[in-house]
Amino acid sequence: MAIVIIGAGLAGARAAETLRAEGYTGELVLVGAEREHPYERPPLSKGYLQGSAELSSVYVHEPGWYGEQGVELRLGVAATAIDRAARRVLLADGSALPYERLLLATGATPRRLQVPGADLAGVHYLRTIADSQALREAFARGGEVVIAGAGWIGLETAAAARQAGCEVTVVEPDPAPLYRVLGPEVGGIFARLHERHGVRFRFGAAVTELRGAEPAEPGGEDAGRGLAPGRVREVALSTGEVLRADTVVAGIGVTPNVELAREAGLEVDDGVVTDASLRTADPAIWAAGDVARSFNPLLGRHIRVEHWANARNGGPAAARAMLGERVVYDRVPYFYSDQFELGMEFSGDITGHDEIVYRGSVEDLEFIAFWLRHGTVVAAMNVNVWEVVADLQALIRSGRPVEAKRLADPNVPLAEV
Ligand code: FAD
Ligand code: NAP
Repeated sequence: MAIVIIGAGLAGARAAETLRAEGYTGELVLVGAEREHPYERPPLSKGYLQGSAELSSVYVHEPGWYGEQGVELRLGVAATAIDRAARRVLLADGSALPYERLLLATGATPRRLQVPGADLAGVHYLRTIADSQALREAFARGGEVVIAGAGWIGLETAAAARQAGCEVTVVEPDPAPLYRVLGPEVGGIFARLHERHGVRFRFGAAVTELRGAEPAEPGGEDAGRGLAPGRVREVALSTGEVLRADTVVAGIGVTPNVELAREAGLEVDDGVVTDASLRTADPAIWAAGDVARSFNPLLGRHIRVEHWANARNGGPAAARAMLGERVVYDRVPYFYSDQFELGMEFSGDITGHDEIVYRGSVEDLEFIAFWLRHGTVVAAMNVNVWEVVADLQALIRSGRPVEAKRLADPNVPLAEV
């Protein structure tokens, strides 16, 4: 039996690892459009971007691991079509791979700014190692950085740019950072943290145009700055304000890479739709990681999660399901971030919450925030408080009613709230 995995990212590589660990000895092919061996993306906006982590630390496995494990890597070549009737994957180099079981782990692609001037030099996106290297070099040159989007990429790159000594302005249409994920109140904590570190925000504003530099006047203000007409120099906002910029970063979300699935006639709804075992309606095809929209029995609905832990755990879950194990993928959604002195982990989903309770000191950035719906905890974020995720997720999973007073009291153990 041949298993083919399309997408040599974290979900794909972890699926391959699990297939071998679970005793699968058949043919196993991992197809990746990038030339790189599978790697983890979180350091690309944190340690690696800031220069504190080595490139070698980002790879999922040592390069020799794939050969040792009999995993055939087809790197630098995209899969272009799935022929479901013949059970073959077609590749961009003209070759075809027969499969008996197929995993889609194609991840996601950054949304592009759709404004005039978006193709000027100096406009960056952040998804790959090469993107991170280019941004690192841009930040090292200093100057003014304008970031579109106060989501995860926006905030983490803002922190890295400030730490590199750049002037930073973040432009965001919503009234607070991370507005949809955390809501305005908790998003405000992130805004204040960044402002304390000199980051400026423009909320309620959108980037409407990027303008290039005029050729520098000899002896003028811009002479010697290496400015070229094809380089971004100004960012116009919907509010009428015009910001100067040496570097622009767009972190305005991603779209899942669903084209292969859609063209193969699989169900797609902002992601490849799967059941709770990560299987699509085609019994020979599964999906995992950023690209999958899976039924989560805990939440009672389909969700797509664009975070590291979901790729790290979803790849292995799909692999076990592909080997015929009974799999119910019902993890509490989880993610983490590091920005300046704030380290955090988040579990759950705030949808429909009607109350927020804090335990600890928000001012000192050492606290847990709980989101409640009808008196039960639906989400929690621990900030600079560690080794509590298991307890927090158990609380969310239990769905049991809690008393806000006990939740806020650090003397009440989380397991006993
Ligand atoms: P990907 O990592 O996107 O990998 C998919 C791979 O498939 C890609 O290499 C792509 O080239 C390849 N591919 C796509 N189409 C094809 C095709 N047709 N043929 C062959 N190959 C194809 N999450 C957190 O929880 N915490 C963090 O701190 C965090 N930091 C992040 C920082 C950055 C800069 C980024 C970009 C993401 C971060 N994330 C973080 C999110 C996390 O990295 C993603 O959720 C995770 O990478 C998803 O893994 P994946 O394997 O599903 O997809
Ligand atoms: P994101 O977290 O979805 O945030 C995008 C932000 O940009 C949102 O606040 C969005 O507002 C805003 N936005 C949308 N269009 C805009 C525009 N035209 N101008 C200005 N702002 C705009 O996505 P991201 O930050 O780009 O991150 C990309 C992916 O990497 C995501 O999957 C993310 O989860 C992942 N990632 C995760 C982490 C982490 O978990 N720590 C770190 C880095 C990256 P609306 O919500 O109103 O659309």
